[in-house]
Order: sequence, then C-alpha cells, then structure tokens
Amino acid sequence: MSFVIAPPPLVAVPVAGGGSYPVHRVYCVGRNYVDHAVEMGFSGREPPFFFLKPADTVVPVAAGETGQIDYPTLTANLHHEVELVVAIGTGGSGISAADAPRHIYGYAVGLDMTRRDLQNDMKKQGRPWCVGKAFEQSAPIGTIVPMAQCGELLTGAISLTVNGSTRQHGDLKDLIWSVNDTIEQLSQGWTLQPGDLIYTGTPAGVAAVVRGDVMEAQIAGLGALRVAVR
Ligand code: MN
Repeated sequence: MSFVIAPPPLVAVPVAGGGSYPVHRVYCVGRNYVDHAVEMGFSGREPPFFFLKPADTVVPVAAGETGQIDYPTLTANLHHEVELVVAIGTGGSGISAADAPRHIYGYAVGLDMTRRDLQNDMKKQGRPWCVGKAFEQSAPIGTIVPMAQCGELLTGAISLTVNGSTRQHGDLKDLIWSVNDTIEQLSQGWTLQPGDLIYTGTPAGVAAVVRGDVMEAQIAGLGALRVAVR
C-alpha cells in the first residue's frame, strides 16, 4: 500500500517480562468509586458510563523511569485521577462478566488526567467532555503486567502521591462496577479488540497539579508509575 502521508506511529506500552503492547482504543469509566462519585456531587448508584480518549493520548512510562507530561493549554485546573487500567488481549462483543477474565491480557497503573475546569463547563452545558478529557498526553500508563504473572486483580491498594504527599487512596474492591462487570457492560456497546485499554475509574481525592509536580501512582501488584508535569 502506498500512503499519501506518513501513517501515524503505533503507541506501544512496555510489558513486564519483555515485549510491547500495541494500543488500539482507550475506554474510560466515569465515577466508578462511591467516594469519588459523592465528591463530584452524585450518589454512586448510577449505571456505568463511558468516554474515550484517542490512542495517541497514551504516554507509556517504563518501570523505574519518570515520565514527563506538558501542562496542557486552556486549563487552570489540571486534575490527577489514578486508575487501574485493563489491557484487553482477546476481543469480543456481548461478553459476560463470568467470561471476562479470559479477555484480559494484563493490567497497569494509569492516570486519567483531566482539565477539570473545562469538563465542568461542558457538563453544565450538556456538551461532550472531549475538551476536558481527550487531550494530548492525558493518559500516562506504566508497564503492563500480564495477568498470567499477577493473577486476577480483584482487591488491592490504589494510591497517588504528589511530591510525596498522599492525595488519593482506595482499594480495588471498592469499584462500583468491577473489572468483569465493566467488560460486560462495555462489550454491549462496542466490540472490544486486542489492544483496547480500559481506564476503570478513580477513588476520591482528585485535585490539581501544577508545573514541577511529580505524581507517583501505585497499585498493589503492579508497582509504581511516576510522572512529572513540566
Ligand atoms: Mn477517570
């Protein structure tokens, strides 16, 4: 095939034990921990909902390294959201929760960076969240750990520090919609593909970062993701 312009590069996330995981799509779950839903003004009993980020918003950060993101344009309120990320290995549609684990390749620690001021404006006006969520470098991700290596992650601490101070901490067991429930719901609306990442939502404590801040996100069993804002 002869392309009339250079094809965009594939985004590839490092995998623990070697190799890279090619990114197809990035799905995100909104308000998936009760304490975060409540801090955003909701009850935590709403059905799940989803939004997407383009694949090239993903910023892969290898284990032991500190990733860099640029403070984005248009915002004065850039928020961190630490999230468990599920990497799909086998695609499908209409997947049941019971069958979901065999579709998972592995897991990673991720950050759903959010231009909160713009997202709030869009919410008020009933407009799409794209400008608040789907901007460049808005989806840092650490090394993907294969499920074959870490097992199915159903519980475990999830936390985030900024410059060493704890901002967010929770437990994966407090997900309103578990990873398997999320795959069931998501695969009713979309055909999941190998290469799809699912950012599964954040616990309470979301807050702003500024240039010079260093975020360290951790999930038990997956290690740490360090990202500096420049
Ligand atoms: Mn989020």
